[in-house]
Order: sequence, then C-alpha cells, then structure tokens
Amino acid sequence: MPVRYRSRSTAGPRSRAAFARARKLIPGGVNSPVRAFTRLGGQPPVMARGTGAHLIDLDGRRYIDYVLSWGPLVLGHAHPAVVRAVTRAAKLGLSFGAPTVGEGELARVLCRALPSIERVRLVSSGTEATMSALRVARAATGRDVIVKFDGCYHGHADHLLVAAGSGLATQGTPDSSGVPADFVRHTVSVPYNDPAAAERVFAKHRGRIAAVIVEPVAGNMGLVLPRPGYLQTLRALTTAQGSLLVFDEVMTGFRTAWGGYQRVCGVTPDLTCLGKVIGGGMPVGAYGGRADVMAHLAPLGACYQAGTLSGNPVSVAAGLATLSAIGGRAFYATQATALTTLLVGLRELAVRHGVPMQLTQAGTMWGFFFSERPVTDFATAAASDVERWKRFAIAMLAQGVYLAPSPFEGAFWSSAHRPADIRATLRAADLALAAC
Ligand code: PMP
Repeated sequence: MPVRYRSRSTAGPRSRAAFARARKLIPGGVNSPVRAFTRLGGQPPVMARGTGAHLIDLDGRRYIDYVLSWGPLVLGHAHPAVVRAVTRAAKLGLSFGAPTVGEGELARVLCRALPSIERVRLVSSGTEATMSALRVARAATGRDVIVKFDGCYHGHADHLLVAAGSGLATQGTPDSSGVPADFVRHTVSVPYNDPAAAERVFAKHRGRIAAVIVEPVAGNMGLVLPRPGYLQTLRALTTAQGSLLVFDEVMTGFRTAWGGYQRVCGVTPDLTCLGKVIGGGMPVGAYGGRADVMAHLAPLGACYQAGTLSGNPVSVAAGLATLSAIGGRAFYATQATALTTLLVGLRELAVRHGVPMQLTQAGTMWGFFFSERPVTDFATAAASDVERWKRFAIAMLAQGVYLAPSPFEGAFWSSAHRPADIRATLRAADLALAAC
C-alpha cells in the first residue's frame, strides 16, 4: 500500500542539532530514557513550547499532544490559571523548607477527594511517593515482602525494578543493572489481572507480606484495565493476612476520576500514591492513607522520610490551581465523553482498514495495541504487534500527532483538546492505518 502522507524525518534540522549537542553531555541526550525514541527509531523532536493541546518544536513543527508530559497536564499546556498561580507563588519565594499554608490546603483537597487518605505527606516525585509508602507499610506491619505485578511501574527505586513496565519494558530489560540481587530479595512480582497467581503468592508467603502495590489501572504496559473483581480480590487477600493494599495512583489519580480509580472501582486501599496531575506539571508526589499507618512516620514515629523541596510552594500552587480548575467530578464525565469520540473514530477506521486494534480508556487515559486478542497483562501486551505500532506511530508523528514513543506507555487527553484536534487525529490515523 503506498504511503499517502508526506513522510519526513522524526525531527527537523534544529531539533537534530540540539539533540546532538545534548548527547555529548547528557547520557543518551535525555533525562529520562523513553524520551530518546529508542523504540521508535529516529531522533526526538526537541520541544520549544506548549500551548493548550499542542506542542511546538524547535523547527516550528506543531503537534497534537497525547503525551501531555506523561500525564500531568490534564488541562493542557500552560493553562492560564496555573501559570498565574505559579507566577504569584514564585514572587513570594521559591522555597522555604518550613511549613506553609499552601501545603495544608493541598492536603485538605487530597483528603477530601480521596476518603481513604486520612493523613498525607507531600514529596517531589512519584518515585519518592511509592518508595516512601512501601517503607511506612513495612514499618507498620513489621514485615518485609512486597508483592507487585509484572508490567506495573512504580518509579525507579531499587527494590521496585523487578519486572517493571514503562521505559524498562521499552528497553526490553525486565530489571536494571546496578541493583544488587539482595535488594530485590523481598520483592515478588506476579502477573497482573490473575487472581489465582495472587492467591498462590499469599499462600506461599503467608504472614510475611507487608504490602501489595498495584496500579489500579495499569498504565505502564500500555493501558490495561483491571478485570472485574480483580482489585476486590487483592483487597480480600491483603485484609485476610494483615497486609496493606497500596494503590499506586500516580498516573490514575485525578485522571480516571476526581480523586482516583478507587472512586470508580469502590475498593478502599490502605495507602495511596499520587503525583503527576496534583502538581499540574511541576515536580510533586504524595502518599497517604490510614492515620494509624502514617503515624509511623517521623517525627511521630521511627520511620524516616524527608525532603528539602517537599511541599515546595511553587509546585503546591500549580497543583492547587490545577485541581481548582478541574473543579470536581463533572470534569471527568465531560472529558471522558470527548475522548470516547476520538476512540470510536479510531475503532471505526481500524475496522475499515482491517487492522486488529485494541483500544482502551479509563477516564482521560487511553491506549491502543495492535492485537487480535484483548490485552489483559504484560504477556499479552508484549505479544502485540510492536512493529506495526512503530510504523503507525512514525506515520502519526510525521502528520503532527505526538504519541508516546513506545507501545508500552499510555496516552492522555486534556480539556484543551478540541473537536478540530479529534478530526485532525482521525485524518492522520486514516492515512497511517493505510500505510502500516
Ligand atoms: N508510579 C506510576 C504508576 C507511574 O506511572 C510513575 C511514572 N510514570 C511513577 C510511579 C514514578 O513517578 P515519577 O516519574 O514522578 O518518579
């Protein structure tokens, strides 16, 4: 089938020159591996600015952005209310390392939106949130073993780089070098969405599991929804053995629903990790949950966790302004409906082109696999047609549609996307599907 869109290199001359300069000083030219476009091939466009749903690179190429900084920008780029709040906060001082009113306000919004969170602590990234939540889970239970799921990514703490998704899935390396085997001795990873596997692990490690950490909707192996009843099974198993259930809602928090996916599935975790949206594009993470568990944290208890920039006033201002502009539940119903329009269009095109495409959606998150069968875990995600995905993603990029440069990442939607963006995306997909 002839390619009918105008093919071009993944990056223009200015991007290529800037990336070449960066590569001389920054390992791989990037500060986070997936940005290097290793899986996609070619070079990444170097970004100059973002406005609403669009990104503009150094060569002036404009893209409809479905990455949105990997999730945080649920209002789109440079939302005026967020920029105003950040500017105002910055003028008052960039960091104090002392209590501020704003961090209390953000804590109040989070605790209200997520009733499972009775106490919350702010940190500076999702990685810190999951790492700290598991430390306090171990402190509270006096146990060592952590159960996670293949293809779920919880940041880059040593003991969580076991069968992790996201950039590690992209690189085809299930584990990282530099992590001593001893450090992951207490981490057990089992297939996602498999209740029998979870039951087996609880039988094998009876009374020794401190916590189960799970992405309630998996967003780091592409977007994979939990099977009905699966999260309830995890809740029942953890409760029965006095283990803690930790929902890693760094990605799903304030993306799938006001609060997080726990409001959708009706399962109450003991601890929740947040990040991304609650910082509105600035570095933030948070973890919180049961007051009796969080009481183990210093200075109340003996479990240590700290941060020079934790609760940073500028980040907190961005988060508060973002959550205030979202305003509550209604936002998600409206935006999910708008996103569904795009996915219905894509599904129709895939059928018309005879291309087997699995599309998934959870609120303002979405994803797709080129696969005959539904994708339910990391094994089925890995078995999808990644070569076709690559041809498709390159064809979309050439037409100004910016998707994550890996089949094992989700896609995102913002309130800044307009019907015209949907139409342009579908026009591009029509040609890309014909060509891939
Ligand atoms: N948990 C989940 C579910 C994530 O998706 C991510 C990042 N994509 C993290 C944790 C780590 O967050 P950060 O990159 O902010 O450290």
